[in-house]
Amino acid sequence: MASPTRNFDFPLWPQFDDTERAGLIRALEQGQWWRIGGSEVDRFEEEFAAYHGAPRALAVTNGTHALELALDVLGVRPGSEVIVPAFTFISSSQAAQRLGAVAVPVDVEPDTYNIDVAAAAAAVTDRTSAIMPVHMAGLLADMDALAKLSADTGVPLLQDAAHAHGALWQGRRLGELGSIAALSFQNGKLMTAGEGGAVLFPDAERYEEGFLKHSCGRPRTDRWYVHRTSGSNFRLNEFSASVLRAQLARLDGQIELREQRWPVLSRALAAVPGVVPQRTDERTTRNPHYMAMFRVPGLDERQRNALVEDLVRRGLPAFVAFRAIYRSDGFWEHSAPAETLEQIAARCPVTEELFRDGVWLHHRTLLGTEEQMQHIADVVAEALADRP
Ligand SMILES: *Cc1c(COP(=O)(O)O)cnc(C)c1O
Repeated sequence: MASPTRNFDFPLWPQFDDTERAGLIRALEQGQWWRIGGSEVDRFEEEFAAYHGAPRALAVTNGTHALELALDVLGVRPGSEVIVPAFTFISSSQAAQRLGAVAVPVDVEPDTYNIDVAAAAAAVTDRTSAIMPVHMAGLLADMDALAKLSADTGVPLLQDAAHAHGALWQGRRLGELGSIAALSFQNGKLMTAGEGGAVLFPDAERYEEGFLKHSCGRPRTDRWYVHRTSGSNFRLNEFSASVLRAQLARLDGQIELREQRWPVLSRALAAVPGVVPQRTDERTTRNPHYMAMFRVPGLDERQRNALVEDLVRRGLPAFVAFRAIYRSDGFWEHSAPAETLEQIAARCPVTEELFRDGVWLHHRTLLGTEEQMQHIADVVAEALADRP
C-alpha cells in the first residue's frame, strides 16, 4: 500500500555553507580563541540581542548553563523553589537543582503542552523564587497570564526558550516580554554550533551580573585575579560564536518555511483517525517550530514506543515525547520536592498521559516540500492502521 513515489529525503540538519566556513577561519586567524580579547562572541551577543529586541545577550556554554546562570542572577539559592512544567526536557529542573533549589513540577495544558498557569499559581509559596515557562516546540506559553501571575506574586519569570529562537508573542520579541530568557544552541536546536547557549537580559545591570558569574566572578578586563562574585566558567568560545553568527543570518528564512509547512502538516495529521496535532495559539504570532508534535490519545507507553519505532523504520525522523521530569531517577537525587512521586503524578494528570502518547518529528521535516507533508501524514496513518 506504500506509495512508490514517496520521498523522505528531508533536508539534513545542521545546515551550513561558506558563511560558517568563513566564520571559523576568521575566528582561527584572529589569534584569540576565547572571548577575552576576541571579537566573535562580543559581535554575536550584540547581533543576537538586537534580533530578539533585548538590551543585552550573554553567550554561554549551553542551554542548561544558560538556565542555571539566569536562575542564579534571579537570586535562586538553596531552599528556593522554582516552578517548572512537569513536561519538559530535564534541564529545566536540573538547572534549579544544581543551585540547591527545589524544582516544583506543575501540570501542562493538554493541547498546547505548555505550563498550566492556574497550576503554577496554585504552586506559589513564600519560597518560590522563579517560575519557568517552557515554550514547547516554539509555541509560546501564555505570557499574558504569566505576566499577571508574576506581577500579582512578585515572583520573576524565566523563559526557557530553548525551542523558541525568533518567536513572537502578539508581535513582541522574546527580549521585549520583560523577563529573562534562556536559549540553547545544541546540535538539534533551531540554530546551532553543536553546543552553546545564550541568556537574553531585559536590562544592562543583570547582564553585567551574569557576565561576572559566567566568568568565575571576574570583571572583563581584570588582570589582578579579583573575583567579585561567586560563579563558574560558562564562557562560549570564539569558534562557536562565529558559527552562530552565520546560523543567525539563516534563521529567518528557515522559520518562514517551517511556518508555511506546519499548517499543511497539521491539517493532514488532524485528518488521520486518532491523531491530535499540537494546537496553535494565534497569540504566538511567529512560531519557529522546533518540533512537529502530535498525540495519539489512548496509546500506552509501550504502544507509543512501538509506533515511533515503526515510523522510524518507514523513514521518518520520529521521537518519543519528553518523559515527565519526576519520572527520572535523576530528578530525585537531590533537591527533590517533599512530595512523593505519586502525589506529583496525581496533580499532573495531563503530563501523565502526554508523556506516554506524545510523538514528535524533527524540525527538518518542516523544511521539506509541501508534498512531503502529506506523505508524512500518510505514513502515520499507515503505521497506525498496521498496528497489531
Ligand atoms: C535543549 C533544551 C535545554 C538545554 O539545552 P542544552 O544546550 O542541551 O543544555 C533546556 N530546556 C529545553 C526545554 C530544551 O529542549
